[in-house]
Amino acid sequence: MKRVGFFGGTFDPVHLGHLAPAVRALETFRFDKLVFVPTAQPPHKLGEPLTPFAHRFAMVALATQLNDQFLVSAIEAERSGPTYTVDTLRLLRDRFMAEQHFFLMGSDSFSEIGTWHHWEELLDLAHLVVLHRETVWGEELAAQVPGGLRSRMRTVEVLRDVPDAEGAQRLIYLLAHEPFPISATDLRERLRLGLTIHELVPPEVDRYIVKHRLYRQGGEGVYGS
Ligand code: ATP
Repeated sequence: MKRVGFFGGTFDPVHLGHLAPAVRALETFRFDKLVFVPTAQPPHKLGEPLTPFAHRFAMVALATQLNDQFLVSAIEAERSGPTYTVDTLRLLRDRFMAEQHFFLMGSDSFSEIGTWHHWEELLDLAHLVVLHRETVWGEELAAQVPGGLRSRMRTVEVLRDVPDAEGAQRLIYLLAHEPFPISATDLRERLRLGLTIHELVPPEVDRYIVKHRLYRQGGEGVYGS
């Protein structure tokens, strides 16, 4: 395969704010496959409540089933303890061989990249595709990341051709898609209050949440207990 993308996240739950930018990235970079990678125990969210992996994985599988180029990996559930993205990415590269690998993250995550475990190695393992989150973008974003990264950053318009990078250096592509201001935190809060999230997640995910009584008082899962 020529280009494979990986998209890591807690996906608690997966929502259209993940899926719409993922489709923009898939189409712009022409990935052969885009692999969603639900995290097992993210080190930066230790101690915070998290819905069991099996539920989060199932919801991502439902949300991605209509697109043949989307895959879901349970690789993070194969290890115990906190899982670092850099270690997961090394394993993923071996499992999904390609000429070029890309790792997707939102601009809020990228603004904190300097705090990630072995972030320099992480940025050498794959090109980065930064998705547009309305909370941080442009000059403000550039000012928050380690200064040495600026020369590697390129802004990419949706559906514009992205030629292969020259040389060995991995690039950081800022994908200038329209923002989709949806967050899992807001969704969980709406569900806790008994409000609907129909318009913010695929119908299969909405039905799964209702069926398993996720994210509500007295329901199944960590948030509901
Ligand atoms: P939470 O509110 O629980 O922190 P989240 O909605 O940010 O969750 P995550 O599963 O933590 O979702 O996100 C996985 C990745 O997707 C992160 O890199 C995050 O920045 C990115 N992301 C999440 N929501 C959006 C969005 N609306 N637009 C673009 N990127 C997003």
